[in-house]
Amino acid sequence: MHSLWDDAEAAGFTGPLGPRVYTSRLLGRDKSLVLHGGGNTSVKLREKNVFGEEHEVLYVKGSGWDLETIEPAGFTPVALDYVRRLAQLASLPDPQMVNELNTHVLRAGAPSPSVETILHAILPHRYVDHTHADAVLSISNAPAGDKRIREIYGDLVVVVPYVMAGFDLAARCAREFAAGARAGTIGMVLLSHGVFSFGADGRESYERMIQLVSMAEDYLAAHKAWRQKPAAPAPATAGREEIARLRCDISHCAGFPMILKVNDSPKFLAFAQRRDVTRISQSGPATPDHVIRTKPLPMLGRDVAAFAQAYCAYFERHAPRAKEPKTMLDAAPRMVLDAALGFAAAGRSAKDAAIVEELYDHTIDVILRAETLGGWRAVDERDLFDIEYWDLEQAKLRKAGMAPVFGGEVALVTGAASGIGKACVEAFLRRGAAVLGLDRNPAIADMWRRADFLGLACDVTHPAAVRAALDLTVKRFGGVDMLVLNAGIFPASQPIQDIAPATWQATMSVNVDANLRLMQDCHPLLKLAPRGGRIVVIGSKNVPAPGPGAAAYSASKAALNQLARVAALEWGKDGIRINSLHPNAVYDTALWTDEVLASRAAAYKLSIEQYRRNNLLGAEVASRDVAELAAEMCGPLFAKTTAAQVPVDGGNERVV
Ligand SMILES: [Zn+2]
Repeated sequence: MHSLWDDAEAAGFTGPLGPRVYTSRLLGRDKSLVLHGGGNTSVKLREKNVFGEEHEVLYVKGSGWDLETIEPAGFTPVALDYVRRLAQLASLPDPQMVNELNTHVLRAGAPSPSVETILHAILPHRYVDHTHADAVLSISNAPAGDKRIREIYGDLVVVVPYVMAGFDLAARCAREFAAGARAGTIGMVLLSHGVFSFGADGRESYERMIQLVSMAEDYLAAHKAWRQKPAAPAPATAGREEIARLRCDISHCAGFPMILKVNDSPKFLAFAQRRDVTRISQSGPATPDHVIRTKPLPMLGRDVAAFAQAYCAYFERHAPRAKEPKTMLDAAPRMVLDAALGFAAAGRSAKDAAIVEELYDHTIDVILRAETLGGWRAVDERDLFDIEYWDLEQAKLRKAGMAPVFGGEVALVTGAASGIGKACVEAFLRRGAAVLGLDRNPAIADMWRRADFLGLACDVTHPAAVRAALDLTVKRFGGVDMLVLNAGIFPASQPIQDIAPATWQATMSVNVDANLRLMQDCHPLLKLAPRGGRIVVIGSKNVPAPGPGAAAYSASKAALNQLARVAALEWGKDGIRINSLHPNAVYDTALWTDEVLASRAAAYKLSIEQYRRNNLLGAEVASRDVAELAAEMCGPLFAKTTAAQVPVDGGNERVV
């Protein structure tokens, strides 16, 4: 591991917190040091208060910030003397510790200081850096881990046995550090947890972290444990439907829909296929910190009921010894290891699932390295329980707000790159769904750069391309719960006698045939939607009130409408609802350029403004209005409705 310090880059970070922000980001850039909100840093500054009195302020990473992207505002100032005194108390319950920290924050509106704040306060150095470095965890979780750590570092670090995070750990570290620190000490290793470094300036503290972690890496390399080559795995064989079924089982066990992200890369697949996978995967996480997101163990195979039973037994084993009553969390797995599937991560959102996947990516490294050193060992199950059911975590449960209406669900939108389709993507994302957007326009791939969106360039008239897109979607999100059939074409206006067979066929091919195939391909997935499948058909005013010159379009939309009605009849027993909406005169779509709009308005002898609002309500209908209705049709408001056809046109005399 090398220092990423760069003088020119560092010069860009000015102000009293500049070096602190810069080196925190350097740590955050390396995922083998910190993952997702893990790790924390601090600096102690002398400042004057409003009376002109000097005092020491500890700026420590606030909760909710990631080191990689932290800004000065992400550091919370706390009164250092007060926090140091807390460390001397004989005991302090963690909820009370959090209260003491929060009531000694010196800037209104600052984020809550890290629960490891006291640890930063007790170290008598200006800059303090803390990571959960993979290399250090690999060694401390190997046989005689503590001995190896002492051997590697000597007096460079003070070694502290495993104690769960919170007040007890801080108090223990305060004692051990005071007793164990020598002149050359530059850090502290907390066994099975992580490593601290410190220094007089930002660069020194950061580079000491790099030095300490490099020493662990060198030790692993010397024992041929640093680089792991996965064996060539047998290919994954689990298909779309099997994955969707697993997600359905997990969601039912959890009591809410979950995203399931499959990883069948050689590394994960080979790990899942190891002969000793039971032993090495069923002992615990790389560091207890992970359990909040991952639960203590991955599920081996796909028997969700058996996993849940074992999880309940674990709760029953440990809950009785807690000081206060504990509320059991859902018993569903967050990680799956399966020889035919590889690995799968479950989360309430695509982002949560991606975090679980990344945590396990590093866990595999830590496990395999410790195995090479002679055998992987995790901390005791009771320690895992103590973190998973920590008072502070239980308090978060009580405070948790309502989940978004489509949290953990997956929507597929066709024609997603513009107009109504684009607005639908936004409407579903806003409601917490993960979204697959299909469009012929390749720009779809990058239109929303976020974990819960997958954009694929795909012509819906190509069956193989659609199936490949569904394969990718199910691997990324675990299924399809909602289908918005939006893609469609509107050929140029022509009287019937002039319609070329090719125009007619092209219109039918996109507006009817492609939608039939999508419905057929999605049916097995929609059947496995944890809350029941839903389809929304973006129809047209031309279904109830066709227009002259639009025979191909009107006939194709009418055929699609009839298809939807029959689907409602056939698929009701599968819990699938299908509803249509009929928009009219939605002008903020790609079809309606300013010129077309001006010429159509002129043809009716209306101003553009009058033409836009030429309906009973005198209202302008926008893509967003249509998309909001499409999303609502998938929500609880329409839970008991199928085969409905709702106009969204501002009121049209011919439809009324
Ligand atoms: Zn930590």
